[in-house]
Amino acid sequence: MRITPAVEDLAEHEADTLVIGIPDDPAWPGPSRRVDALSRGLLGRLFESRDVAGKVGETTLVLEPPGLRAKALLTVGLGKQAALDRGVANRAAGSAARQLARRRRGRVAFALGDDWPEDRVAGAICGAMVGCAGQDLFRAEKKSFSFDEMTWFGATAEACEQGRILGESVNLARRLVNQPPNVLFPDSFADIARTVCAEHGIECEVWDDRRLEQERCGAMLAVGRASTQPPRMLILRYRGAPGEMPPVALVGKGVTFDSGGLSIKPSDGMKTMKGDMAGAAAVLAAMCAAARRGFPAHLIGVLGLVENVISGSAYKLGDVLTARSGTTIEVLNTDAEGRLVLADALNVAVELGAAAIIDVATLTGACSVALGQHVVGVMTNHQPWCDRVLSAARECGEPAWQLPMFPDYGELIRSQVADIKNVGDGRYAGTITGAKFLEEFVGGRPWVHADIAGSAFSESARAWIDGGGTGVFVRTLIEVVRNWSGAAPA
Ligand SMILES: [Zn+2]
Repeated sequence: MRITPAVEDLAEHEADTLVIGIPDDPAWPGPSRRVDALSRGLLGRLFESRDVAGKVGETTLVLEPPGLRAKALLTVGLGKQAALDRGVANRAAGSAARQLARRRRGRVAFALGDDWPEDRVAGAICGAMVGCAGQDLFRAEKKSFSFDEMTWFGATAEACEQGRILGESVNLARRLVNQPPNVLFPDSFADIARTVCAEHGIECEVWDDRRLEQERCGAMLAVGRASTQPPRMLILRYRGAPGEMPPVALVGKGVTFDSGGLSIKPSDGMKTMKGDMAGAAAVLAAMCAAARRGFPAHLIGVLGLVENVISGSAYKLGDVLTARSGTTIEVLNTDAEGRLVLADALNVAVELGAAAIIDVATLTGACSVALGQHVVGVMTNHQPWCDRVLSAARECGEPAWQLPMFPDYGELIRSQVADIKNVGDGRYAGTITGAKFLEEFVGGRPWVHADIAGSAFSESARAWIDGGGTGVFVRTLIEVVRNWSGAAPA
């Protein structure tokens, strides 16, 4: 899709559709006032009759609007002006785009507000790109169509480029999640990663099963043992800082399909398990964005890719595994496999000299029980680093909430026969005991764990995004690494 700043006047702009932002209060910004004047009060009358509203993401389509050269006008609500931020802009633009993407369109122009900061414009462009990309990858008859071209009023060329990179990154993560498990498995994921890394100047090292044995990745190998698709560990390196700078590591859980193993899931719980690699997809997408934007930072990405299925060689309940770090783990549930994969991946990140770590994982169903389907659970061993991640999430408009890590929770994963066990105490505090397990492998480095179970995959569409993979936390990761200066804040 071509994305450019609009140069002509609003009245003269020839577009298939012109999208105008309408706030939910009387002080309308420039573009809506201007369109209202050009159309001799049309918008005001529609607002008065309540055919147009300013509620975030609410849209109204007007064909052949008077006084404009655009063939159609779409109003989209921006909510209260005081609450308008990057997240709202993202959802509003996404809602408008999703509405328009139901059929093919040539040029769509957006005039949402005046004097928006560059980051907000970029967030809106990202939202629009996400809004017109659907999950119907394998349908002959598509339900949504990307526009040929978008033009943005009040945008700089730089904001357009930033928005495009954000949108393409989120869509990359979504597309990977939406790939079915017969297409996307550890080796094919590795192939895709190798290709996109080569395009953007990121080094991509792939550890195959032989190498994983040599590297003593006993926890991850146990998970993958039952599958005919052998596991892979990907180590991505982006060096954007001019000199030596300690890197930040992004670590992603990449279980390309999770049957639960011998602790098998019911069919209903297994249906969306192609999305259990969303953490790895988010890390790959964020690394690509960082490289494309040339952030002056050193980054490491570690992706643990594995398929968790059943065969005679499946790992068993009661098995004691030795993780790469030497820690022994008693397996009491083979469906708590993500933490086993991450145990070895986090250890690799530590060994590579990460000065701070963020891991992203669809780790626990308990996270959706605690926080719902659309909120990321965040846990840490280092509050200032966590505050940095939470503030990035807030800036981007990605809802995230911190859960406590009291030392007592750590007692729940002590084992009678090994150093630790891979589940806590029944169903209590399952998200936190998962994080406590991971904490054992971060070598005391500043670390944030983002549990994206629930928020990574949406069974149904929302106004601004189709169902399926959501690309959650890609924008937040990009925002964090953009400001990386070699150390976690003190
Ligand atoms: Zn599982």
